[in-house]
Amino acid sequence: MSHRVTLIPGDGIGPEVTAAARVVAEATRVPIEWEVVEAGERAIEQGGSPLPDDVLDSVRRNRVALKGPITTPIGSGFRSVNVALRQQLDLYASVRPARAIAGEGTHFPGLDLVVVREATEGLYSGVEHWVDADHTAAETVNIVTRKASERIVEFAFELAERDHRKRVTGVHKANIMKTTGALFQEVFREVAARYTRIPSDERLIDNMCQQLVRRPYDYDVIVTTNLFGDILSDLCAGLAGGLGIAPGALYGSSIAVFEPVHGSAPKYAGQDKANPVAEILCLELLLRHLGEDAAAQRVYRAVWETIAEKKVVTYDLALPEYTDRPVRPSSCSAMAREIARKVPLVDLDRPLPKPATPLRSPA
Ligand code: NAD
Repeated sequence: MSHRVTLIPGDGIGPEVTAAARVVAEATRVPIEWEVVEAGERAIEQGGSPLPDDVLDSVRRNRVALKGPITTPIGSGFRSVNVALRQQLDLYASVRPARAIAGEGTHFPGLDLVVVREATEGLYSGVEHWVDADHTAAETVNIVTRKASERIVEFAFELAERDHRKRVTGVHKANIMKTTGALFQEVFREVAARYTRIPSDERLIDNMCQQLVRRPYDYDVIVTTNLFGDILSDLCAGLAGGLGIAPGALYGSSIAVFEPVHGSAPKYAGQDKANPVAEILCLELLLRHLGEDAAAQRVYRAVWETIAEKKVVTYDLALPEYTDRPVRPSSCSAMAREIARKVPLVDLDRPLPKPATPLRSPA
């Protein structure tokens, strides 16, 4: 039976990286019928709103979507389509795995962390205003509820149990934010007490950043509020090898939307230059969600082997800071074709080589 999936190409490099993911999807031979809908700048060009109803209807109907990044104008213009999509579809859990791939582009080979971020409230609730007419002062309201905190922390512990993860760390700023921070902390403690099989601990957000940069192997699943999760997931993506390889997933109670951590990188739009891996790994997560585990594994392995081989990779994976081997950069579409070529050739019985250094943080 064919899976019907909504595809939102998005803005900037979005159409190129989602096209790349489709090429790889085809190579898996999993029957997927894509329903393509436009949101963001392309939807506005077509004379509509940045988030037309047909986009929301399509995702509600199909319950699963692959999405490219969508531009949000800074300071003025329309509100973030990404935030609106999460709020309107109640996609409350943003899950961002940070996996070092083939030990490349990272000081932490074998790193494998997951950031679970509350995605519907906090400082992204959109409740903000200028205090005075001269715009010399402004306020943004941080909304934290027991209901939303409970379901995101439960989600993190369920994920840890399902994926045999070793620990869940709750991150907040309860020492300074005596209401919003304290409520999230209280709920984290209550939920953690119900999941006695999984060790858990807490960190203040500032200390968490410092600890992650020095000792990332000490952490596994991190759960936190919206803004802290946004920042920590970029930080973890950087530790694991950069935005170009970092996928993400948004889950509601019955809907899942897969989108990369990176944005629309407008300066590379239309140049066939952007790294397609993050979007291709979104396809991997999507296939897993659809129950197509073998195909998902093939996609991950084909990405892994393409990066390890370093013959057909985009400019960012060929930079001296990413690799000490001289590599000529390839295009986005060429890298996608190379990954697609490898998908049917992957030997799933052969284990991936172990990382070059032990999984221990430097002292
Ligand atoms: P960005 O992620 O687009 O770019 C940050 C840096 O990473 C840039 O140097 C860019 O060139 C590089 N980069 C990003 N993705 C890459 C890729 N696939 N391959 C190679 N290099 C890549 O972040 P930004 O510049 O802060 O944001 C641009 C726009 O994207 C903004 O309008 C922002 O609101 C939007 N955005 C959207 C989403 C989303 O749709 N979920 C997420 C983040 C940002």
